[in-house]
Amino acid sequence: EKTLQGQTAVITGAGSGIGRAAALKLAENGARVALIDLKEENIAEVKQQITDMGSEAMVLEADVSKPKDVKEAFEQVASKWGHVGVVFANAGINGVVAPIEDISPDDWDDTLETNLKGTFLSVKYAIPHMKENGGSIIITSSINGNRVFKNWGMSAYSSSKAGQVAFGKMAALELAQYGIRVNIICPGAIDTNIDQNTFKKEEQLKEIMIPIEYPEGNQPLEQGAGKARQVADLVLFLASGQSSHISGTEIYIDGVESLI
Ligand code: NAD
Repeated sequence: EKTLQGQTAVITGAGSGIGRAAALKLAENGARVALIDLKEENIAEVKQQITDMGSEAMVLEADVSKPKDVKEAFEQVASKWGHVGVVFANAGINGVVAPIEDISPDDWDDTLETNLKGTFLSVKYAIPHMKENGGSIIITSSINGNRVFKNWGMSAYSSSKAGQVAFGKMAALELAQYGIRVNIICPGAIDTNIDQNTFKKEEQLKEIMIPIEYPEGNQPLEQGAGKARQVADLVLFLASGQSSHISGTEIYIDGVESLI
């Protein structure tokens, strides 16, 4: 029998990058997968891939920063498939990249709302559908959540990512009574679409952005960015019974990037 046979998994930001790779990985391992993203066309394509491999998926267009969207998405999943066993709270944006002086309060809010409030809402509205039988929640933070990193200009992003780590630990403590585990993953640079997806104000950014340096050997283990499928392997481990005594931890997946 497959590791996650018969389980329901909900994944946010499932239309691209890490979320997409995790959706395919969990489906391959027997889960029914609910795909949440802003962009319906991307998740429809992921759904097709999952259907082609003989597994089940459903598509839910929702903005994780909107309470109504998130609440309704979980209700739809539960009404179709019952108990939710796995939640991967992964949707995120780089958001504003600028010196602090130049960050508008609205841009600050946008970043925090998607990354931090979106995580809070994805956990909050999952709980009623998880507490009876327990399960596993995985939150995507970043090495930026714990380290003031060399890519200057990302104070809003880093604050949101640090908030996710603290929130995830508090959630692990609170939800242990229901047999719900909560872990936080902290990727280094991963080869996804995040830059193209979120650096919206390219012209403005060219003027204000402090150049981000990525020297060769930034990730000495593999000499380059990690792959979304490598992160998906970690998500599978944390979703499965293989990690049944692990909760409230943050796990780095960065090819030692955070150590140099
Ligand atoms: P990506 O841009 O390839 O995918 C993110 C997906 O999230 C997109 O499909 C996007 O439409 C969706 N999304 C964005 N805002 C949303 C919202 N409000 N509601 C619903 N969906 C939304 O990026 P990725 O690199 O796969 O990022 C996934 C997570 O990994 C993010 O939380 C990101 O901060 C984190 N992360 C990425 C890296 C990296 O180098 N790529 C490193 C560390 C952490």
